[in-house]
Amino acid sequence: MAKIEILQLAHFSVRGVVQGVGFRPFVYRLAIKYNLKGWVCNTSEDVKIEVEGEAEAIERFYFELQSKAPPLARIEGITISYHPLAGYTSFEIRHSITEEGKYQLISPDIATCQACLNELLNPNDRRYRYPFTNCTNCGPRFTIIEDMPYDRPKTTMRYFQMCPQCQAEYDNPLDRRFHAQPNACPKCGPQLQLVDNQGKQVIATLTQTISLEGRGLKGDPIATASQLLKQGRIVAIKGLGGFLLACDATSATAVKTLRQRKKRSSKPFAIMVANMDKVKRHCCVSSQEEKLLTSPQSPIVLIKWKNDSPISREVAPNLQYLGVMLPYTPLHHILLRDTGLPLVMTSGNLSEEPIAKDNDEALRRLSGIADYFLIHNRDIYSRYDDSVAIVEREVPQLVRRARSYAPYPVHLTFKAKQILGCGAEMKNTFCLTKDNYAFVSQHIGDMENIETLEHFNSTISLYKRLFRIEPEIIAYDLHPDYLATKYAQELGDSGRGEHARPYLIPVQHHHAHIASCMADNRIESPVIGVAFDGTGLGTDGCIWGSEFLVADYHSFARAGHLEYLPLPGGELAIKRPYRTAIGYILSLLGESALKQGLTFIPELSSGQVSEAEIEIIKRQMERKINSPLTSSMGRLFDAVSALLGIRTEIDYEGQAAVELEMAAYTHQCAEVSFRHCEERVSQSSERSEEDEAISDSKESYPYRIIMENGGIRIVQLSELLSAIIADLKRGVSPGKISFKFHSTVAQIVNEMCQLIANKTGIKQVALSGGVFQNRLLLRKTIYLLENNGFQVFTHKQVPCNDGGISLGQAIVANFAVAS
Ligand SMILES: [Zn+2]
Ligand SMILES: [Zn+2]
Ligand SMILES: [Zn+2]
Repeated sequence: MAKIEILQLAHFSVRGVVQGVGFRPFVYRLAIKYNLKGWVCNTSEDVKIEVEGEAEAIERFYFELQSKAPPLARIEGITISYHPLAGYTSFEIRHSITEEGKYQLISPDIATCQACLNELLNPNDRRYRYPFTNCTNCGPRFTIIEDMPYDRPKTTMRYFQMCPQCQAEYDNPLDRRFHAQPNACPKCGPQLQLVDNQGKQVIATLTQTISLEGRGLKGDPIATASQLLKQGRIVAIKGLGGFLLACDATSATAVKTLRQRKKRSSKPFAIMVANMDKVKRHCCVSSQEEKLLTSPQSPIVLIKWKNDSPISREVAPNLQYLGVMLPYTPLHHILLRDTGLPLVMTSGNLSEEPIAKDNDEALRRLSGIADYFLIHNRDIYSRYDDSVAIVEREVPQLVRRARSYAPYPVHLTFKAKQILGCGAEMKNTFCLTKDNYAFVSQHIGDMENIETLEHFNSTISLYKRLFRIEPEIIAYDLHPDYLATKYAQELGDSGRGEHARPYLIPVQHHHAHIASCMADNRIESPVIGVAFDGTGLGTDGCIWGSEFLVADYHSFARAGHLEYLPLPGGELAIKRPYRTAIGYILSLLGESALKQGLTFIPELSSGQVSEAEIEIIKRQMERKINSPLTSSMGRLFDAVSALLGIRTEIDYEGQAAVELEMAAYTHQCAEVSFRHCEERVSQSSERSEEDEAISDSKESYPYRIIMENGGIRIVQLSELLSAIIADLKRGVSPGKISFKFHSTVAQIVNEMCQLIANKTGIKQVALSGGVFQNRLLLRKTIYLLENNGFQVFTHKQVPCNDGGISLGQAIVANFAVAS
């Protein structure tokens, strides 16, 4: 008896990251496999599929569509509907359709895949050593896209006409490069050049021999650049999202030269090494850290640095973590293999300016830093730094969110209005919301100069265009002097014509931190929010920074904080933590204690800081001139760091606190938490031992919690400070004092949360703010809170520092208008 065939025609709409990731060829192959007829097509908002065939086959097709999608696809939703048969005779891939007002998610750039790497290293392959090799599974995306739908004419690859061979790959649905928009080969694609810092071409072909500083060097631009790097030169390399500055990481001289020229005396550099084996030569790597390093996102991961690593300590002075990444473009792979060296790879900019992206711009801005430039003619459309992550408690957390993460959105638990959150000032990002998405921008930088503001502005325009967002609400920080605040206010004033003037909603800095952490964890119910950072303007005009809030998306109440203390000289105290220490000792313990305490601050005991400066500080405090009050936790870390003689002046944000944390690791107990790899990677029984060791809080300093009139709890610090001075006098090591201090802060958090929970019944705690980049503090705090029955939330997708502020602002603004 003949089988009865039930024929159907099904229409699918697939949403998510489904363009530029090999989705249509996958659909094509699937349709062929199940003998289905019809078509597939990209539109501005989805991938549309129509298949006609046996009902059972369509069911299988649907199942595999979800379960076997290409690795980089992220399906957010599939809708299916059934229609009358159309009588298709084949399956085809149709031209893309552009639709007004529709948008879809965009794939970030993806590290070189194994298949492309194999071709790159195979001398018989036509793409042997070709630095722009890519396929539908890897390569540039967001950095070259000017608009959607994602097609070659809308990317910076449009200037390159594919050769017949590349075109054939591009047109063949069964090829790995089918519709790979940046597809290229040495014959038809972008080319590298090596130029000197005057822009003069040094080498541009594969076989040219040149005379360089009296030596004949043979090879292509990459081989020559490798030689130069081995000689200790600094080479600027055009990468995916901008220029990186490279030098030999094992050469103290090269690294020092780079520091001098870049005007960056001690802020750590990241390094790139050829492969995992090499990473393990320099660092103690856990299995989760390895997973993150080798992921398609390939971020910089901060990992425990081995003492016997040959990488120069100049790369990250006084630090025990090293920022490491693996090669993520073909160019990097070849370069790292050719040099055989770990290379410093740091953003191509002068101190805090944005990363340089165009050839001319790089030559203009970086000629005082780099000796040579490895440039190419594929334009970068969107500027992008490398992302930075850590792994804490087995979970990756982003510290800087940029390449390969942005512009993938944070998913919200509610449908948001169209809002722009402008962020704060340091490490800034912006956030645009629409539907269930929060598009947090890539790291833009410190909003301190006109270049960064321009980068901020043009990136906002790009996101608005790509995701079809026209914000009706603008959220910004309370601080009136931030460039981002001024930017928001100008937008508010300029609304006219076709768009109504947007609402302006100011959002308190720490409320934004906590809302950001809540959104990051998809929680909506009220939390006890602990926001610890350096600076954030409060609603009372003081500088807040150790905030215990009872908060949700709608509102917050301040439940407690460290007592207010003066910052003599304001900004100057932030740059010179010894001033903060003097201010704190004077106000808490008085003149006599100052004399004792100061003997431990080297600059003071050695007379580098004059009596006159101390007198000025006293006067500033007495007369309250340029001596703002702060409850900042960051400043307390600064003051203790200075008091212990660890760091009295800084040259990058957070340095005093970071070095104070590092000192704690020299203390015996903390050592356990960073024992060597073999042990560290081994097992979880170890982890509990580790937890106990770092969380042993029996040894801590005294403090006092009092209740102020308004019902706000204040943590008083005089006993803490005098106990630290007493320990110093007894000759206790700075490492041990630092360890005890960390325990004390964790205990303060735990006790305050308990007091707040007693009153409110809330048992969920959200930790946010840059201070929680301190991993020792984070671990101790989580340990105590969890043992005390709290559920603790920390950041994952966006940074806990001010890079996460814009997300919180947008969400608070959304609810401010809704209510
Ligand atoms: Zn590939
Ligand atoms: Zn070609
Ligand atoms: Zn902050």
